[in-house]
Amino acid sequence: MALNIILLGPPGAGKGTQAAHLVATHAMVQLSTGDMLRAAVKAGTPVGLQAKAVMEAGELVSDEIVSALIDDNLAAMPDSAGAIFDGYPRTAAQAHALDAILTARGRKLAFVIELDVDEDALVDRITGRFTCATCGEGYHDRHKMPAVADSCDKCGGHEFKRRPDDNAETVRTRMAEYRAKTAPILPIYEERGLVRRVDGMADMADVSAAIEAILQSA
Ligand code: ADP
Ligand code: ADP
Ligand code: ZN
Repeated sequence: MALNIILLGPPGAGKGTQAAHLVATHAMVQLSTGDMLRAAVKAGTPVGLQAKAVMEAGELVSDEIVSALIDDNLAAMPDSAGAIFDGYPRTAAQAHALDAILTARGRKLAFVIELDVDEDALVDRITGRFTCATCGEGYHDRHKMPAVADSCDKCGGHEFKRRPDDNAETVRTRMAEYRAKTAPILPIYEERGLVRRVDGMADMADVSAAIEAILQSA
């Protein structure tokens, strides 16, 4: 059976890093609303035009927009693949929308994996983050540099990029949004017995191993 999971945690917690690892090791598809929105901004679609300034300010894009993106992308997935919700849901309204979306597609949530991190570390994580412009592989100035300088480990590309919202000032707004709107959705899933907490401050490989153990427990 396809396992559908939510990766929950503040900006910089390691959701994207762990989602990419799961995609490489399992029949799972990463559904990142952040990635979908950045693609829409880049393509200049109506959604992208609405989202751009909101994202640059570190605020949340409307529930309707992100839930529609999730529904469209889930519809395009094969039934046999599990979904990794990365950065969604972020509000109670999104959590309820996701319930309806999953039911309509005959899917069930297996786990909500909460990456538990120390807030002081997040500014360091986010301001050091960069990605390969060609394949999207994630890197970090201090925690994960390419093995060969200026060359992507995965595709050999030489171009890297940083997100416009990955600056110390916007990070504070994003963390405040997380505390005010996203952290309060945890009790919804705690009541259903779905939450599993993982130490997100551990090394990337150890975090992956902890998540793997949770998936194996299903
Ligand atoms: P999120 O998707 O939750 O915002 P990312 O997965 O993009 O977070 O991680 C943020 C940054 O921190 C990236 O540069 C990534 O390489 C780095 N990172 C991720 N997990 C760890 C970890 N366990 N230890 C140290 N650095 C990490
Ligand atoms: P991070 O994991 O580093 O916080 P994301 O890539 O998930 O970053 O999100 C980047 C930005 O995209 C957010 O700050 C917000 O503006 C927007 N966004 C992404 N997902 C959502 C969502 N589920 N609801 C509302 N806004 C979102
Ligand atoms: Zn690459």
